[in-house]
Amino acid sequence: MKIYLDNTASTPLLNEVIDCMNDTMLNLFANPSSIHFHGRNSKVAIETARKSIAKYLNCTPSEIFFTSGGTEANNMALYGCVYDLGVKHVITSPIEHHAVLETLENFVHRGLIEIHFVKINEKGQIDYDSLENLLKTYPASLVSLMHANNEISNLLSINKVSRICRKYDAIFHSDTVQTICHYKIDLQKTDVDFVSCSAHKFHGPKGIGFIYINKNRVKISPLLFGGGQERGMRGGTENIYGVVGMAKAFEIAHQNMDLDMRKILSLKSYMIENLNKTFVGIEYLGDSATDGLYTVLSVLFPENVFDDMLLMRLDIEGVSASSGSACTSGALKGSHVMKHLKIPENRQTVRFSFSKFNTIEEIDFCIEVLKKIKNS
Ligand code: PLP
Repeated sequence: MKIYLDNTASTPLLNEVIDCMNDTMLNLFANPSSIHFHGRNSKVAIETARKSIAKYLNCTPSEIFFTSGGTEANNMALYGCVYDLGVKHVITSPIEHHAVLETLENFVHRGLIEIHFVKINEKGQIDYDSLENLLKTYPASLVSLMHANNEISNLLSINKVSRICRKYDAIFHSDTVQTICHYKIDLQKTDVDFVSCSAHKFHGPKGIGFIYINKNRVKISPLLFGGGQERGMRGGTENIYGVVGMAKAFEIAHQNMDLDMRKILSLKSYMIENLNKTFVGIEYLGDSATDGLYTVLSVLFPENVFDDMLLMRLDIEGVSASSGSACTSGALKGSHVMKHLKIPENRQTVRFSFSKFNTIEEIDFCIEVLKKIKNS
């Protein structure tokens, strides 16, 4: 048996998405910028997808710009703020995704900005008073804080942060890669300037996503020039089947959201119950066992039960999970998030993350595998 519990890293494609992409590949091969019949059909598919996505987010289609995914969307927001909106101070947290942190560090190395980190507590929760204090000192900064942390699940109160940002005239970008299509997000009620999205986190294809840019508040220039696609905001022939596949995955996620959420939450509760029975002294990181992002369970095993080969052993036994560590060029590099949480070296962490395709039988299998490794 092989089971997949790494859905925060990526999710399996839905059959409906594959069918719709296949159909697009077969029939909509023309360049959407061509003005003939075939080209116009490709263009219509892209604009229909944009409209559909905008409807679910309650924004206008002209606020959605397709990108190659979450990394590009985050880069586009940050570059736009620094190069076009004159941002000199950025307030963020030390546990953001690398697509935000490394982009900002690059700006620091170029002497363009200063970064100010909000305080986080031992559970990785954001200290909102610290955000407000930083904004008192650096008003009109950029605030970049993720909606849900992909390693420890903590959810940000977006509305609270946006109220604080508005009070100090700050720009607000939120990396919503782990939450779009997992929660209903109404952009008329959520006062943000930029959000980022990646389709492969909700059973859509890889290499496609978008940035939402609040047209009433901010105007930035493209990251990629040439061609005039995306109303001049992103040069390059569009990834039509990616866009169409993402819109399909978007639609299905929204239609089934409550049901999927309940199913995933019950799998997670079942896993917690069984882990608690099996490992005395087990703990859970961040808010992952309480009210964090429901797809993630970040486990901190008791001292000396497992060694640092745990993930590899899980893999050998048929369980694909993640340690919250980034695997760079074959070398395991400790996760910056775990470093900030000061996890002791003799305790192993594993991030199990679920989708609607997981089953109770798979959770039972995973628990049996953990018992086997523990006793070996
Ligand atoms: N932001 C977060 C929170 C993520 O989890 C990821 C993916 O791991 C990204 C950004 C990057 O998205 P993509 O893989 O589409 O570039």
